[in-house]
Amino acid sequence: MTKNKTALVCGAGGFIGSHLAIRLKKEGFWVRGVDLKYPEFAPTVADDFVIGDLRDQIVVQNILDRPFDEVYQLAADMGGAGYIFTGEHDADVMHNSAQINLNMAYYGVKAGIKKIFYSSSACIYPEYNQMDPDNPKCSEDSAYPAAPDSEYGWEKLFSEHLYSSYHRNYGLDVNIARFHNIFGPEGTWTDGREKAPAAMCRKVAETPDNGEIEMWGDGKQTRSFLYIDECLDGMRRLMDSDFTGPVNIGSEEMVTINQLAEMAMDIAGKKLTIKHIPGPLGVRGRNSDNNLIEDKLGWKPSKPLKEGMVKTYKWIEQQVKDANK
Ligand code: NAD
Repeated sequence: MTKNKTALVCGAGGFIGSHLAIRLKKEGFWVRGVDLKYPEFAPTVADDFVIGDLRDQIVVQNILDRPFDEVYQLAADMGGAGYIFTGEHDADVMHNSAQINLNMAYYGVKAGIKKIFYSSSACIYPEYNQMDPDNPKCSEDSAYPAAPDSEYGWEKLFSEHLYSSYHRNYGLDVNIARFHNIFGPEGTWTDGREKAPAAMCRKVAETPDNGEIEMWGDGKQTRSFLYIDECLDGMRRLMDSDFTGPVNIGSEEMVTINQLAEMAMDIAGKKLTIKHIPGPLGVRGRNSDNNLIEDKLGWKPSKPLKEGMVKTYKWIEQQVKDANK
């Protein structure tokens, strides 16, 4: 009998990590998850789940007790615009996430791990290329001269360099992806850390027909959103390759936030008015550029945004109903 491949998922209590653990189990991996918390919306499927703080070197040494075939480093101090762009959490975001990555790279090499995936972000791209909502530039080589619009983005850029250095100096096999707005069911949908698709679905689900919802900014800022299952396809494709990246994993279907809200209303069968209010926004425009991933891995998302939004809306609508019981 062949031995199961082993995977360590750091951040397995979070949105992408909990979905990834399910995918890895289906593929036959033995999975250990680590996080400060268990997944919020469903029990973990991991074979072993360690509640631990990855800023702590002892915890990191303990969880790396074997030369894992694959390590996925998804743990980060993060959230939506309400968390990242207000400036109130900058020191924590930089300290906490950098500490996690410093520990994982250093002790990962010591433990002899075979391969590590690092989740960077579209937030590393310079603000100056994302001022025009209709023509944002996010090709991988446009990252420099660096000018991310948040400390969250600067930490991601630092950690990309950290893992790349370990690749060069210690032969650590790294795969670095820059995620562009991943969304789907069983993700944060309330409390200020939720992202735009979840926020729009929640507001629409909570508001009676012909009512009003609030939106930060004029709603003309653009973004693209990638459904979780597509993201997992891209991640697994990248990990099965020897392409180190960094490479975008995102969708090229760019919409305005107004259009995203309209889509949620359409799915719900409601007609609501949008009241635009001041709030933290981020860049004016952002879209994934998938030329590099198509070229290197022959991969691109296969489904339209609407399909993922339907599944996400249904899930959030149920959460809203349950919360009001
Ligand atoms: P998430 O916040 O749901 O998951 C991150 C998990 O890390 C959380 O469960 C959190 O408890 C855990 N964590 C934080 N600090 C920790 C610590 N000190 N020790 C142990 N665990 C700790 O986020 P997500 O959406 O699943 O994102 C996963 C990764 O992908 C993150 O690194 C994020 O920066 C990156 N990313 C996500 C998106 C997106 O749209 N979701 C976009 C770009 C990048």
